[in-house]
Amino acid sequence: MSEKTLSLIKPDAVERNLIGKIIQIFEDNGLVVEEMKKVHIDLEFAKNFYSTHSKKPFYNDLCNYICSGPLVALVLRGDNAIQINRDLMGSTNPKEAKSGTIRNLYALSIDKNSVHGSDSHQNAQIEIDLFFNIK
Ligand code: ADP
Ligand code: MG
Repeated sequence: MSEKTLSLIKPDAVERNLIGKIIQIFEDNGLVVEEMKKVHIDLEFAKNFYSTHSKKPFYNDLCNYICSGPLVALVLRGDNAIQINRDLMGSTNPKEAKSGTIRNLYALSIDKNSVHGSDSHQNAQIEIDLFFNIK
């Protein structure tokens, strides 16, 4: 069944001019770019977006990083889009990411890991609504 997920091309990847290469991977794997915008979020937005991680030791660094420069927010659509996007991203730690995944190819470190992807239907809806005010 066709579904939607939120993807972020994070500041480290935008800064290195990797927007096109990352979107190419999505399109080559059957995901359709339904919405897209480049945006520089502020700290308040970042803290809300990552609120599920608020008790983690890396929370403050994560929030400061994600608003350190522009990112690209995408709504991706396709059959099984949430899981397919997660598979294309690879593991959170790029050292553990499978060959050919976005994080294997482009991530610099566990914190500067180039992409975000929603991890469930519920979070996809919440995150799409946060960035695009749509369901
Ligand atoms: P994912 O992005 O793969 O869904 P998580 O939701 O667990 O990973 O974490 C959100 C983000 O927080 C990660 O993408 C990464 O940028 C950062 N992060 C996760 N774990 C760590 C860690 N141990 N040290 C530093 N940053 C981390
Ligand atoms: Mg996550």
